[in-house]
Order: sequence, then structure tokens, then C-alpha cells
Amino acid sequence: MAADLKQLDVPDARFSCAGCGRCCSTSWAVTLDATKAEQLRKHAWNLPGGVDPFVEHKGPGGDFRLRMVDGHCVFLDADKRCRIHAELGYEHKPESCKAFPLQFGVSQGVSYARLSFYCPTVCKGEGKKLTEQMKWVRAAARATNAEERTEATTLDGARALGARDFAALHGALVSAASGGAPLHERLAAVAGTVRVLVADAAGGDPAPAIGPLIERAAALPLHERVARGLADGSASSGWSMVSLYLSTDARPTTAARLLQLARLRLSSIGLAQHHSAFLRASASASKRSRVRFTTDEASLARVDRYLQHKLAARAYLTGHPSVVQGVNSLFTALAVLATMARLSAAGAGRDATGEADVAAGLEAADLLVLEHATLGQTPSMGAALARLLADETLSASMLAFARFAEPASDQR
Ligand code: SF4
Repeated sequence: MAADLKQLDVPDARFSCAGCGRCCSTSWAVTLDATKAEQLRKHAWNLPGGVDPFVEHKGPGGDFRLRMVDGHCVFLDADKRCRIHAELGYEHKPESCKAFPLQFGVSQGVSYARLSFYCPTVCKGEGKKLTEQMKWVRAAARATNAEERTEATTLDGARALGARDFAALHGALVSAASGGAPLHERLAAVAGTVRVLVADAAGGDPAPAIGPLIERAAALPLHERVARGLADGSASSGWSMVSLYLSTDARPTTAARLLQLARLRLSSIGLAQHHSAFLRASASASKRSRVRFTTDEASLARVDRYLQHKLAARAYLTGHPSVVQGVNSLFTALAVLATMARLSAAGAGRDATGEADVAAGLEAADLLVLEHATLGQTPSMGAALARLLADETLSASMLAFARFAEPASDQR
């Protein structure tokens, strides 16, 4: 449903296209309807072999998708410019191309904007402030066919949250994630707030009202929520979940993904290298685990910006009917970020991550887990993933695995 943008809550967001061509060289489907395809076909594209630039599309989003040739959009020229843009003008591009790196989610009648950190200028926070580009943001929100969530958001799959309760819980999570405490503690406080609430809301006949429970969880001293957020975390469970997402960091075929998963399993016992197609880097698990997730200010500020942006834009609601699943998905992205940043540093022979490694980790995390995830696209994998993400101890496992706080313990 097309909706006016009512909520733009993206701290420090900046974007100006640098023309790297990355968004035109991915495996996601850029869809368009038959009318738009017909209009574009009228232009003399003179494509090699006279191929039709569009391929029939069976899924949601449109009747056709842009044809990919040699790993990039058929309209991308040798100078990484879009031929539709260059030869016909910006207005003629498919809507999702015009909107990228913006994405939208509509929940309870409110359209939320968020940005893909897969775009390197967003990730680095370069370019024009988003708040100075509201004409484009609003036009993209109207034109994008963001589906409105019809099902109620639940706390844990069982307790439905009304708009007021969800707003109160969201406020409590944002508050736990903010402030001057170290990143690891703030993340543990977010996880702890959710876990306290799930435990308090369970059982009871009649079921307790959720509003006062949210207030109670949010008012608990930080150290109690941190302890709760770290309880029962297992680094090996964290790695199992992370490696599932990392299995999609391979060519988009089932065989390539299974091979990648096998390689990741072997790497955890020292028998194979972990290779990332996205980073074009390899290292053994032991080398990667020895890399310190550096505490330099710029890197931590970047991770923090990612966390705050994804929280503020309610990215954890995307595709997840429960807050537990959504928050676990956000924690998984952060664990993938830390893993990829370490792999990037280890592949280059360094023992601590630097700014470039953290930026690469952020881009990969958004690509593989949050904004463009391909894991879970089949119904069976989607159902299995939903079950894994429903485990409220998962966030603690992610924190145990990702080790945002030093000193290092003995993990993969
Ligand atoms: S990824 Fe970002 S910078 Fe690169 S072409 Fe796409 S919008 Fe432009």
C-alpha cells in the first residue's frame, strides 16, 4: 500500500550516490509492472544479442524483473552509470531504483523510512543529510509499494501489543540502547528488558495487563537488566546462527550455499578457511577469533549509529511478527557485523579491526541479515528461521559470540 511518510526517525542519516554500481550488481530482484516494462521497451536499447531487458517474475512486487547479465543489471554501462537514467532520465527508472537506499515499512498506518547500510555512502555517513532531502524521501514513500502489516505485533508470539504498549516498549528499548555505558552493556540491557518482560508476561489467569509490566521492566536498575540479558548465552549457539546467515555469502545457488555452510562448520574446528565472497577475504576461525574488535572511537560510533538507526526506524518489525524475533534478528546482524569485521582484519593479517573493517562488517550485516536477507525466503526455511529467532536466549548467545567487550574469551 502506498502511504505518506509520517515518521522519519533516522539519526544522522546521510546519503549522496557515489555511483559505485553496487546496488545494480546484486542478486535481489528489481521488479516492475507490465505497463512500465512496455514503456521502457519502446526505447532502442540495442542490447547485445537483442535480448529483452526484462524477465518474467512470479513473486510479489511486479510482473517483470530487470535482467542480470554477468552479475549486474542489464542497464548498467561500462562506466557504472544507469542507462535508463542517462538516456531517458531519472523519472523513468523503476521505483525501487529511484528509492534505493531507502526502504519503507508500514505499521499501524505509519510509514517508517530506513536506509540500507549496504550502500557505502550511507554506511560511512557521507553525503547530504537525509533531512535535507525530504522531497525525495516523501515521493519515494508514496511510490513504493510497501506492504502494510495487518497482523498485530506480538511480544513473543503469544501476547499481542497494542499501539500504545508497542510504543512504550520501543521507547524502553531505545532508552536501554542509548546513554554512556559501553556498547556491550547497552546491548545486554536491551536483551534483558525483553527477557524480563517475557518472563513477567508469561502465565497468570487472567493474563496480567502488559502496560504496567513494560513500565516495571523499563524501571529495573540497568545492572539487573544487563545480568538478565547475558544469562544463558552460549557462544557456540551464537556461531551456529551466524553461520546460517553467512552461508548466503556465496553465489545464489543452493549447492554453493550448502558448500559454504559445510566450510563454515569445518572452519569452527580448524579444518577449513572461512571465505567471504562479499569481503573477498579468507582466514581460519582461530585467526579470526584472535582479532580484537577494536574500541577505537570512530568504529564504535559507527556500530552505534547502525544500532540506533535500525532501532529508530523499527527495522526489527520488518518481517517479524514478534518483538523477540525482531530483536534477535537485530542482535544477529550485530554478531555478523563483528564476525565480518574480524574476518576482514584477519584476512589482511591484522590483529585488531580498523575503521574500514567495521564499515565492511556493517555493509555485510545489512546485506545478509537485515535489509536484503535471502535466508528464509523459502517457506520451509522461513518457518525454521522463525522458530530459531523465537528463542529469547538467542540475544545472549549473540553477545557471548560477538564479544563486543574485551578481553577475549576462548570462542571461535
Ligand atoms: S550502492 Fe549507493 S553509492 Fe553505490 S550506486 Fe547504489 S546508491 Fe549509489
